[in-house]
Amino acid sequence: TPVIDVQGAYRIYETAAGFTPALRGVSLSVARGEFLAIMGPSGSGKSTLMNILGCLDKPTTGFYRLEGLEVSELSDDDLATVRSTRLGFVFQSFNLLPRTTVLRNVMLPLIYSDVPVRDRELRAWRALRSVGLPEEHYLHHSNELSGGQMQRVAIARALVNDPALVLADEPTGNLDTTTGEMVMGTFRRLQRRGKTIVVITHDAEVAAWADRTVHIRDGRLLSDEEERAYLARL
Ligand code: ADP
Ligand code: ADP
Repeated sequence: TPVIDVQGAYRIYETAAGFTPALRGVSLSVARGEFLAIMGPSGSGKSTLMNILGCLDKPTTGFYRLEGLEVSELSDDDLATVRSTRLGFVFQSFNLLPRTTVLRNVMLPLIYSDVPVRDRELRAWRALRSVGLPEEHYLHHSNELSGGQMQRVAIARALVNDPALVLADEPTGNLDTTTGEMVMGTFRRLQRRGKTIVVITHDAEVAAWADRTVHIRDGRLLSDEEERAYLARL
């Protein structure tokens, strides 16, 4: 079973001004251990697709199966459970608690898990080691770290529940090129250890770290070849 299996998904927003079809027949399959990049210009539907993949929103029509579980028909409560147990999120703005230690930040998602309290610190420790953050920082407040270190803490937090899928939305958007490469290198190493990773970016050099890139234009997905053909026609 693929980790992500989206078939014929439409997402149509209804506003006072009318209907906006943000996704128009998206199908996407991502296997376990794959590292996928999704690229697209502003307004193309990236956030809409990410919200669906992240179980924050559901397709208007079509289906989304996550590890074989049909999530497009779950209640909001069940979606929240899926988010906290099967998914890890990484954001452009890191979203760490500033005056809280690195270790506590990484332990946060475990509050909602069934991991026994006595094991939580060890879990967080392991997640931090897996992203290569030196131990000397684990008891520092997160706001004492550099941007690249903060993003690695955020990746560790995303990993601590051992999710099926890590979703990263513009994870290098607030980082300089060198630091951004370091963060992408971290994802790459996680992927080599079998993690399934989806990164949204508008930067082709960032996307180049992935195994495969799909492009989104006007709510439709294009492969690399289709994107090249599209650009050649302009
Ligand atoms: P991107 O993330 O690539 O910038 P979005 O997914 O945010 O694209 O938006 C895709 C389209 O859907 C745009 O036309 C946008 O204006 C529209 N859209 C996004 N969110 C909403 C919403 N909550 N209500 C109405 N229209 C929306
Ligand atoms: P960006 O960093 O790309 O600017 P944000 O980090 O502000 O975006 O987050 C994007 C969206 O995800 C927001 O609507 C936010 O409420 C939501 N969000 C933030 N943290 C989590 C989380 N841990 N789980 C689920 N949704 C989250």
